[in-house]
Amino acid sequence: MVLLTTTTIGSLYRFDSELHESIEKAIEFQREHRLDILSDGEQRTDMISYFAESFDGLGVEAGVPVVSGRIALKNGPGEFSKVKDFKHIRSKYPDLRMKVAITGPTTLGMTCGSRKIKSHYKNLLDFRLYEDIADALAPIAGAIVDSGAFVQLDEPFLSQGYRDLEARVKLLDRIANGLPRDKVSTHVCGYVGGHGAIDYLLRLENVSTLSFAFAGRIEMPNIAHISRKTFEDNGKKLGAGCISVTPLTEADVNTPEQVASKLREIAGRVGRENIAYAHPDCGMRATTKSLVPIILRNMRAGVDLFG
Ligand SMILES: [Zn+2]
Repeated sequence: MVLLTTTTIGSLYRFDSELHESIEKAIEFQREHRLDILSDGEQRTDMISYFAESFDGLGVEAGVPVVSGRIALKNGPGEFSKVKDFKHIRSKYPDLRMKVAITGPTTLGMTCGSRKIKSHYKNLLDFRLYEDIADALAPIAGAIVDSGAFVQLDEPFLSQGYRDLEARVKLLDRIANGLPRDKVSTHVCGYVGGHGAIDYLLRLENVSTLSFAFAGRIEMPNIAHISRKTFEDNGKKLGAGCISVTPLTEADVNTPEQVASKLREIAGRVGRENIAYAHPDCGMRATTKSLVPIILRNMRAGVDLFG
């Protein structure tokens, strides 16, 4: 049997002070761990700054993000930092299977607007803020797919209970509209069984793969909310978070046997053929640095063991 495809959620610790050097080291690190779909490792650590650089209406004042006017993409999507980073990677490694993660509208809007909204939008609940961000993100997602990568829409905040959650989830379809759906995934952190989150996500039309966590303590109950029927009826594949990213010591890292057992449990619910790939539960920016290689090593061994 062909082994499951492996990937990460994207972020890793910073490898080098020079950006391109750092990205290349992140790629080499992922190759050493025999991952199949690679990312830039989110070596641009300051999300707000790189969005502020490319978006009108978004700025940073005294280190604090500020929404200063109507949000729109300033230049062509090819000028967006992560698209440029990807093209740099492509020029060095033309054959790698790559994924580029971008922050979704709810997470980006909540993060940028929570401190200060100076004009154009009434407040943080003004839905136009999120629609405008989605419209600014759409050409970026298109440019990523056009350059030959998968695009992953990161929406960690969607597991929280918003009154307009359904409309917020639908913004992901608006971003992915017109793109080949098998190139588009979304990652939602935490417990997705509340507030109807998973039901809305399953109904997305332009996103093929839903990526959730199953290994962490809070995320384990997600297993009850996935099933072969709902995934197949909605034409979805699963990104399976199969190893925790929050161990505090080496002894806390899930073992290869635990990873394999988690994958068996997930496959038992959703069907092995409906697993798009296995990945750590979440990004690993905040994970204890020395444990990151151990997590990837154990995940790799667990996927091999699962067979
Ligand atoms: Zn996550």
